[in-house]
Amino acid sequence: MKKLIVGNWKMNGSLASNEALLQGFQQGLEAQDQSVLVALCASAPYLPQLQQLLGKGPIAWGAQDVSAHESGAYTGEVSAAMLRDFACRYAIVGHSERRQYHGETDEVVAAKAQRALAAGITPIVCVGETLAERDAGQTEAVVKRQLAAVIHTVGHCSSEMVVAYEPVWAIGTGRTATPEQAQVVHHVLRAQVAAATVNADKRVHILYGGSMNAANAASLLAMPDIDGGLIGGASLKVPDFLQIIRAAR
Ligand code: 13P
Repeated sequence: MKKLIVGNWKMNGSLASNEALLQGFQQGLEAQDQSVLVALCASAPYLPQLQQLLGKGPIAWGAQDVSAHESGAYTGEVSAAMLRDFACRYAIVGHSERRQYHGETDEVVAAKAQRALAAGITPIVCVGETLAERDAGQTEAVVKRQLAAVIHTVGHCSSEMVVAYEPVWAIGTGRTATPEQAQVVHHVLRAQVAAATVNADKRVHILYGGSMNAANAASLLAMPDIDGGLIGGASLKVPDFLQIIRAAR
């Protein structure tokens, strides 16, 4: 399976700064082979810009969230069909910042994943424990519960799905899970995917996210069950993001 590197820009960017970043990435990737899948997830207003500038090139694009509803009276929400209109390949669902600041439950996250799949968009389903949960020895139970909700709602583990393990304590903190710590959890998730649907474990990418950067990417990506990365801060810097992509080759 080719590795998948996804940048999550979070609530950052402007037309001008996005254009500069995209140019830098495109120039940097020109010289590379296509052995790594690359995508960027931007705030909704910038999706037409990504569609225009990335076009049919090798970098895919996606959203950072999607509505759990199909359409109608949901002020401020963006539907999966709307994302499809702008050729989004991916939509992040259940990022810990959405769970934490917007009260998204496992059930809401599962509904979002289902909406994305129904529209032909690959949901990047984020799971991960808080520091308190890790300290209480609940890591495995928490990530399994979060993923189980999606598998239950969708009815199987779609091979059109991506799973991202993002330990909450490692996001934006500069404190990365060690490759060994991450591998343990990725192995658990791989087994859960396999148990849900025959052979899905061979097709579903399981990404690591949480302070992945140019210096630590290679050691994380060397682990057998880490199929790529979901990158926050380092995806806003051209040399760093390109270095992570190189580390995935
Ligand atoms: P950082 O890479 O900035 O820690 O963010 C990780 C993340 O939340 C990606 O979704």
